[in-house]
Amino acid sequence: ITDKINKLEKDEPFFSLEFFPPKTENGLRNLYARLGRMSLLGPSFVTVTWGAGGTTAEKTLDLAITCQKELGLTTCLHLTCTNTSKEVIDNALKTAKANGIKNILALRGDPQRDSSESHGVGVFKHAVDLVKYIRAEYGDFFCIGVAGYPEGHVEGAYDSTQCAEKDLPYLVEKVNAGADFIITQLFFDVSKFTKYESLVRSQPNLTNKNVLILPGLMPINGYSIFQRASKLSHASIPDSVLNKFPLEIQNDDDKVREIGIGITSNMIETMHSRGVKGFHFYTLNLEKTIAQIISTSPVLKTILEKYDDDEAAASSDDEDIDVATAKQAA
Ligand code: FAD
Repeated sequence: ITDKINKLEKDEPFFSLEFFPPKTENGLRNLYARLGRMSLLGPSFVTVTWGAGGTTAEKTLDLAITCQKELGLTTCLHLTCTNTSKEVIDNALKTAKANGIKNILALRGDPQRDSSESHGVGVFKHAVDLVKYIRAEYGDFFCIGVAGYPEGHVEGAYDSTQCAEKDLPYLVEKVNAGADFIITQLFFDVSKFTKYESLVRSQPNLTNKNVLILPGLMPINGYSIFQRASKLSHASIPDSVLNKFPLEIQNDDDKVREIGIGITSNMIETMHSRGVKGFHFYTLNLEKTIAQIISTSPVLKTILEKYDDDEAAASSDDEDIDVATAKQAA
């Protein structure tokens, strides 16, 4: 990923897309059709999520291999390490390497939902342990990404200490251990990201002050998904955003989506004007909103112009079926 990004022109914008492996055959068929179209939007890379504790290991690997080998997309495999055996991690890394996947998003993960396990169980306690392990076992073969939290990691929310500063020493540890890039948790308040970016870069112990930091953006696909995602990720919603959704339009998905596209495009423009070149989208496997953002955003549409935009911007008829799945994924 970083080799690819470094080859771009100085101010050339780029974006990446996150997908999750669907549970059903039908969901997978829909996703493959969508992936084919979305690849024409011109993402620099795609990422594939990994279920907590390795629950989706096989499906994640299958999807990542299809993205890399069949669709020819630069692919990044998410890998969580806590509550997971070393064998599962070894198998994922070995399979990725054997299939030409050269990028790993190294994460700690969480205990599975409904489980009584606590955090940090197993050989790897924190994401930094996985970064170190990958570097020790594979040298420079993998480009490694890690997670960052502009509003602080959620664990701090339980004891009211949630803030970006609390996690920073651990983020520095992850980068100094060999991480090449950072993807942030989703947010809706650009000022929080801007502050975070400068905080990260000003950390005295950070070895790579220019580490790539990609803002994580979740397009607004519907009011309830938007509320749920911001609640779960503890992302604050500024009044300027919230006020755009008065009660009478909250159940009108088309209207909410249209307003949401404007909000995300504005966020991109503001960040771009502050020097941010790359943007990561949490797609929830949905296509329409992303395609519209990319084809209308003054910053990103320049990328699409290089591709066959008619085909890429086409919306899919099967999408509404997957909105329910997206709500769960959010
Ligand atoms: P860490 O960096 O280990 O940090 C976790 C917590 O521990 C933080 O509160 C931190 O302050 C603290 N900490 C870190 N190191 C230390 C230390 N040495 N000593 C004491 N405290 C420490 N989850 C999934 O299950 N699958 C996915 O595919 C997935 N993808 C994600 C993608 C992105 C871009 C992001 C932002 C998150 C993703 N997550 C995913 C969620 C992630 O697994 C959780 O947020 C998890 O709780 C923390 O992971 P981490 O890698 O940030 O952990």
